[in-house]
Amino acid sequence: MNTTNRSTGLRAAIVGGGIGGLATANALRQRGVDVTVYEQAKALGEVGAGVFIYPNSLRQLERMGFGAALAAVGAKVGPGSQYYRMDGTVVGPILTTDSSGWNGMYGMHRADLWRCLRGRCRQVWCASIIAAQASNRPTPWRG
Ligand SMILES: Cc1cc2nc3c(=O)[nH]c(=O)nc-3n(C[C@H](O)[C@H](O)[C@H](O)COP(=O)(O)OP(=O)(O)OC[C@H]3O[C@@H](n4cnc5c(N)ncnc54)[C@H](O)[C@@H]3O)c2cc1C
Repeated sequence: MNTTNRSTGLRAAIVGGGIGGLATANALRQRGVDVTVYEQAKALGEVGAGVFIYPNSLRQLERMGFGAALAAVGAKVGPGSQYYRMDGTVVGPILTTDSSGWNGMYGMHRADLWRCLRGRCRQVWCASIIAAQASNRPTPWRG
């Protein structure tokens, strides 16, 4: 993992502390960009249930240093896995490899992925995560 944290002097504001915003924050921080994440929700709310991390995503997350953390909370989705309907009938096979044939795929609770991303932002990169609603108005949200 590249743990370079030398500041480039660049700063970025990220609106939204979901898995997209926090993954972006980690990637930018790893490259020495100072990031501030603005999230309107004051606490982790309903974030859905399961999420698949597909091989292309996992490869990138491993480059960002999340390999061990994701292995700890995820269940490996191996070759031969299938999608099922609620009644147990098969929908079809799950593609568990990328175009090179590499099998790296996890299923996990969405909140676990979010906590991994947020924890590293806070504990490793000390990125600022601010509870505020970004808008085209200069005043912060109060609610
Ligand atoms: C049913 C379903 C199943 C899915 N399954 C998978 C899967 O298996 N694998 C996969 O990779 N992807 C899956 N996806 C897609 C994945 O969930 C999304 O791509 C991902 O959640 C997008 O992340 P995000 O951070 O961009 O957005 P979000 O998770 O929607 O987060 C946006 C955040 O921005 C905040 N926000 C919004 N506006 C403001 C504002 N003005 N100021 C401050 N904060 C703001 C919100 O409060 C929120 O926390 C699925 C999606 C759905 C709906």
